[in-house]
Amino acid sequence: MKHQIVIIGAGTAGITVAAQLLLKDKNLDIAIIDPASKHYYQPAWTLVGAGTYNFESTERSMSSLIPKGAKWIQEYVEDVLPDENAVVLKDGARIEYDYLVACPGIQIDLDGIDGLKETMGKNGVCSNYVDPNYTWQVLQEFKGGTAIFTQPATPIKCGGAPQKIMYLADDYWRKKGVRNDSDILFITPGSVIFGVEPFASTLMKVVDRKGLQLRFFHKITKIDGENKRVFFDIVQPFEKISHLCYNYRDVDESDVVQGHASMKFDMLHLAPPQSAPDFIKRSKLAFHDGPSKGWINVNHFSLQHNDYPNVFALGDAAALPTAKTGAAVRKQAPVVVENLLHLIEKQGAISEGYQGYSSCPLVTGYGKMVLAEFNYAGERDSDPLISKFFDTSKELYPMWILKKYGLPYLYWNLMLRGKA
Ligand SMILES: Cc1cc2nc3c(=O)[nH]c(=O)nc-3n(C[C@H](O)[C@H](O)[C@H](O)COP(=O)(O)OP(=O)(O)OC[C@H]3O[C@@H](n4cnc5c(N)ncnc54)[C@H](O)[C@@H]3O)c2cc1C
Repeated sequence: MKHQIVIIGAGTAGITVAAQLLLKDKNLDIAIIDPASKHYYQPAWTLVGAGTYNFESTERSMSSLIPKGAKWIQEYVEDVLPDENAVVLKDGARIEYDYLVACPGIQIDLDGIDGLKETMGKNGVCSNYVDPNYTWQVLQEFKGGTAIFTQPATPIKCGGAPQKIMYLADDYWRKKGVRNDSDILFITPGSVIFGVEPFASTLMKVVDRKGLQLRFFHKITKIDGENKRVFFDIVQPFEKISHLCYNYRDVDESDVVQGHASMKFDMLHLAPPQSAPDFIKRSKLAFHDGPSKGWINVNHFSLQHNDYPNVFALGDAAALPTAKTGAAVRKQAPVVVENLLHLIEKQGAISEGYQGYSSCPLVTGYGKMVLAEFNYAGERDSDPLISKFFDTSKELYPMWILKKYGLPYLYWNLMLRGKA
């Protein structure tokens, strides 16, 4: 079987690219390969985890979203053979292409932390990346004690999500009256909670106002779910553990030694380790060594593959030095579409129009949000229209309304239809 354009993955990126292509030229022959029968609006999982959004509202059937005119092949891609312009499916079928768009998202690696797989979804160990309904259950059942929110050492999708749920949990526990009996810690292998100003300064004020504790240079390595203990490698030499912390208070860390620490928890939220899907890692599309190992090797600005000019990649699986978000996909998709049409029509120049835009809607409580937008240079890149009316580096109620109502509407009705 052969198609002019094959798209791997019918997630945010795959559907958006297919819809935009077909709006430009309805005669294109496009096949989208994805085994999933459901498509999720994942950004709302943060709100689901905090009990302010229904999980069911984040879900639509895949068949309702595949653009009219595209063919959906409901199967896993097992191998990509770019030298042969072909992909091989799990059922053994071989699909050939003239052009390939690879956007199979990111893989959640529960094996990446000792004991995680066994305890995820039990013992107060939860993740909005895996089951936000269980996060909400854990938040409701929490009666005080130590609540730990962690970030892994790998790249993840939506780097802000691990801290957003902490801010919401703090707010919820204050309303419920258990906050005074609690320690809330955010534990990260990094050295800051957010890398871009002025958003970082706003977030540090939120941390102070809420009395949250931060631990830096802590890489989570193991979870003992039954005994409710979590273990870390400390990746920076230290004299006193408090030197690697902000708002330090001892939380039963008696066994801190050089290089290691462990803590008791009453609830633990994780962003699990993540990586490119295995079939990508072993394919010729991926980097095979270096810091981008496993991710798809594309030009950062044109999203065209660096070895195979008829291949493009975007979304979470692409090796792009910016935050992996749906908002980034919204700016990447038009560049991929323009460049694909340029190759097909054999006119115009390849556009290097993607400048690394990504954004993170940092919910800091029920009814409050900071909208962090930035680019490859690590500079603020706020939307000029919104910025006329609001300073999005501040916690604002209108931004919360945007997150809860505006962005889901934009996603389902405009972006996935190729119109935004
Ligand atoms: C808790 C959470 C909060 C988030 N918050 C935000 C936010 O506030 N703002 C924001 O912009 N983004 C947010 N994101 C990130 C956003 O959802 C992703 O960055 C975005 O969906 C990436 O799009 P994608 O198309 O690359 O991957 P996805 O949308 O994940 O789609 C990948 C698709 O590929 C398919 N696939 C996988 N393997 C194969 C295979 N072998 N063969 C064929 N198909 C395959 C999958 O079934 C899936 O349909 C959040 C994510 C999470 C989990």
